[in-house]
Amino acid sequence: MPAGPSRTRLPSWEELATALRGALLVPGDPDYETHRHVWNGAIDRRPLAIARCVDAEDVAATVKFAAREHLPMTARGGGHNVAGLAVRDDALMLDLGAMNRVEVDAQSRIARVEGGALWRDVDAATRPHGLATTGGFVSTTGVGGYTLGGGVGWLMRRCGLAIDNLLEAEAVLADGRSVTASETRHPDLFWGLRGGGGGLGVVTRFSFRLHEVDEVFAGVMFHSLDAAPGLLRAFRAFTPGAPDACTAMLVFTTAPPLPFLPPEVHGKRVVALAWCWSGEPSEGTRALAPLAEFGQPLGRHDGVMPYAAWQQMFDPGVPAGDHYYWTTSQFDAFDDALIEALVPRAAQPADPLCEVHVHHLGGAVARAEQDATAFSFRDAPLFINVIGHTGGAERFTAVRDWVHDTRAALAPHARAGMQPNFAGAAADLRLHAHDTGTHAKLAALRAHYDPDGLLAPVRDD
Ligand SMILES: Cc1cc2nc3c(=O)[nH]c(=O)nc-3n(C[C@H](O)[C@H](O)[C@H](O)COP(=O)(O)OP(=O)(O)OC[C@H]3O[C@@H](n4cnc5c(N)ncnc54)[C@H](O)[C@@H]3O)c2cc1C
Repeated sequence: MPAGPSRTRLPSWEELATALRGALLVPGDPDYETHRHVWNGAIDRRPLAIARCVDAEDVAATVKFAAREHLPMTARGGGHNVAGLAVRDDALMLDLGAMNRVEVDAQSRIARVEGGALWRDVDAATRPHGLATTGGFVSTTGVGGYTLGGGVGWLMRRCGLAIDNLLEAEAVLADGRSVTASETRHPDLFWGLRGGGGGLGVVTRFSFRLHEVDEVFAGVMFHSLDAAPGLLRAFRAFTPGAPDACTAMLVFTTAPPLPFLPPEVHGKRVVALAWCWSGEPSEGTRALAPLAEFGQPLGRHDGVMPYAAWQQMFDPGVPAGDHYYWTTSQFDAFDDALIEALVPRAAQPADPLCEVHVHHLGGAVARAEQDATAFSFRDAPLFINVIGHTGGAERFTAVRDWVHDTRAALAPHARAGMQPNFAGAAADLRLHAHDTGTHAKLAALRAHYDPDGLLAPVRDD
């Protein structure tokens, strides 16, 4: 699809601008600079134009225009994708950011969420009803890309992945048609939208099942690095039998200047246990005891709080505009050799802002039928995300090298594949995010629904 500098004829932007209710931004417009940026400041790309869609008709008009003009295009949901899949040089960006409305049917326990909403928009709408569904570990992630990639988070072991709660999706296909996909309507498309990593259509509205989730028992407990091997072994022992209401993670990080941590710890490398217990709060302390009573923590902060408040707790740690590079690996077991490979690298990152997150799955995630969705690796009990993060461009190369080194050190202990949502590079998404059978099935679906690759999330070059 030739576009940008290699095109012989410029698209008729006036025509698209007239067709849209939302704004069309082209280079030189004051808002173009703001909207071309995504969350990851390391991504610096210039789309041909940005269509700020306000409804499904705008989306259909934009897709039809791109198809007719043979313009490559990208869809932007929350803009959180670390690889920057929402924006491409010399492509038309369809920006769903203004489509963030959420309607809650409390009686039927369903939330209808527009394709550009963030998880905090969903929480704000469901919280007054004492309801929630699985969203991200932070609240600033977009519902769109997150759901298309599976969607893990604090509620997943009790409520399933985001895709396990998806009841239907309204989407605009590459030919401009609007369809509703569900278990009974376009079931093949519905299968692919759930974990396929995007690209089969632009989803204008998601309908999610909601669960009774009001207050949770949640918190974070910091330990010195010396305690890391022991804490990892305690995590290993705890997670296989952990109750569904509990999702926990270990975070290698640099101690922030929080009032519940002694000043001499601030700025030191530490390991933190963070957890969310979404069952009866009074049972949480007993259930978490094997982990929470480990060792002598440097400090802790926990309590019973609204789920929505807990979901925002880590938002300040991942500011938009900083430079990020991530990767992820998954594991069948957490043996001592893996611990020995992990701890020294997590202890000495290229930038103090870098983190390593150790996660468990299991619970409702593992119980859902494997073939029911395009999310390939729900049976993996553990995964580790290596989060390269630095404030500016100067240290980015060193940070990326640290991420690669850490991944290479973990590789001998890892199983194949990775979750689409944490693939930090487009090539990883293309090569590793699905098993062979799922990959082939998705390729056939793409050939059927988008034969020209208009909406493909990753280019083949
Ligand atoms: C700080 C941070 C925390 C995260 N936490 C979690 C987490 O807890 N759990 C988890 O599973 N993932 C998590 N992620 C990963 C995240 O889910 C993915 O990066 C996801 O792609 C982000 O979705 P988005 O809509 O914000 O992204 P975007 O960058 O806007 O889009 C990502 C991809 O999805 C496509 N897309 C987005 N919306 C739509 C739509 N409505 N219709 C069609 N295609 C669409 C885009 O075209 C693009 O290909 C996190 C990411 C960050 C940066």
